[in-house]
Amino acid sequence: MVVIGAGQAGLSSAYYLQYYGIDDYVMLDSADGAGGAWRHRWPSLRLGKVNGIYPLPGFPPVDADADLPASEVVSEYYASYERHYGLHVIRPVEVTSVDYGPEDIGAGERLVVSAGPDRWAARAVINATGTWTRPFWPYYPGMASFEGRQLHTADFRDVEEFRGKKMIVVGAGSSATGLLLELSDVADVTWITRRKPVLRDDEWSENVGREAVAKVDERVRAGLPPLSVVSATGLWAPPDVRAKLESLPWRPIFHELTPRGVRWRDGTELEVDAILWATGFRAALDHLAPLGLRAPGGGIVMDGTRVVAEPRLHLAGYGPSASTVGANRAGRQAAREIRALLNSSELVAS
Ligand code: FAD
Repeated sequence: MVVIGAGQAGLSSAYYLQYYGIDDYVMLDSADGAGGAWRHRWPSLRLGKVNGIYPLPGFPPVDADADLPASEVVSEYYASYERHYGLHVIRPVEVTSVDYGPEDIGAGERLVVSAGPDRWAARAVINATGTWTRPFWPYYPGMASFEGRQLHTADFRDVEEFRGKKMIVVGAGSSATGLLLELSDVADVTWITRRKPVLRDDEWSENVGREAVAKVDERVRAGLPPLSVVSATGLWAPPDVRAKLESLPWRPIFHELTPRGVRWRDGTELEVDAILWATGFRAALDHLAPLGLRAPGGGIVMDGTRVVAEPRLHLAGYGPSASTVGANRAGRQAAREIRALLNSSELVAS
């Protein structure tokens, strides 16, 4: 058994594999330490500012000062989890492909997970590689000609780099709004989205969450690329945050970039020093390409966490499970189904 990735989804998967008595697994992680994507989040993202980290299965919740960087706190939380449960994590190991493999290592019976020259023959694989390593940059004409600084959320480190600058933030998700709030204290920021953002400050209910997850689940069952859960729920902001965001200058998405800024179709221009693309991420699944899983709709046809075309492969943290609570549940579902799969193949073999 191989688990690829040691973020919340990978850790939950490993926990449940052990819980169901499957101890002969390895968890391969490309990072050089614990924390999954949280390890890389910008230092000014404080624990008190994130939406909330759901406790890992069988472990107490994160308990730390709200002013500490979320990256430090969550990395330490995941590291203590790995130690406490003795999870079989090997790092840094970047998986480069998952394939059916050649005859000598059981083609047909095993999936072959490769990391450069190293190979693991696996009866089943849980892929939990998240999205952080695949930042999404949309294309606009003139992008290469812009002489200021362009960066993606994934590259963002410190608001101080933008003190006194004129900049735009492109994006309508929670990373965009979080960064806008931080940057607007030090820079002259314009918010750019495709449509006028609608911010909700009504009461969050479990039903809203469930409905959003169901929408994303429906898409991945149909083999369409997943939407983020936020794009299905809308953006939540408490009244004070909503008021601050609504007070920022906003413009609809521009037509092109120029050497000094951006230009709309009506010829209006805005000169800026920097453009921050808070335009989200895509699932990091390139290493699965040899399995040929892409459906005509551009996604992978899923049934829960199971890949319909390859039932030995589960995707945890993909689509509807791309949240810390979803990752926990996905790990449990994937491990439970793999236990059933391994039990049935042992019956057939005996
Ligand atoms: P990740 O945490 O990304 O872990 C994936 C792991 O796989 C990484 O360690 C990576 O190094 C490894 N990996 C990737 N490719 C390979 C490869 N080829 N080979 C080997 N290893 C590989 N969710 C919440 O519930 N609450 C929040 O407050 C919240 N805040 C967020 C803030 C931001 C800015 C973003 C972008 C997302 C946020 N999310 C939040 C969503 C969050 O990312 C998920 O909830 C969850 O932490 C993702 O866990 P994961 O295990 O799926 O992926």
